[in-house]
Amino acid sequence: METTVTDPVCKKIIDIADAAGQLDYEGWAYFFCSEDCREAFIRQPSKFASRPTNVAHEARRPNRQRNTKQS
Ligand SMILES: [Zn+2]
Repeated sequence: METTVTDPVCKKIIDIADAAGQLDYEGWAYFFCSEDCREAFIRQPSKFASRPTNVAHEARRPNRQRNTKQS
């Protein structure tokens, strides 16, 4: 089980058990190495929050090109 996370502010890898602060933002839990980082995050959450990117399947639509040339 993974217990390490990346501090979104300073990018330091920390252990959840050692985290100085935790914050839930938009449904995600963020952990911080210090109160300073936590406060920085609270000030500008949108700057630091990076949710796991969902690689969406790009559905390929068949390009139906109709040649309606009728003679
Ligand atoms: Zn930090």
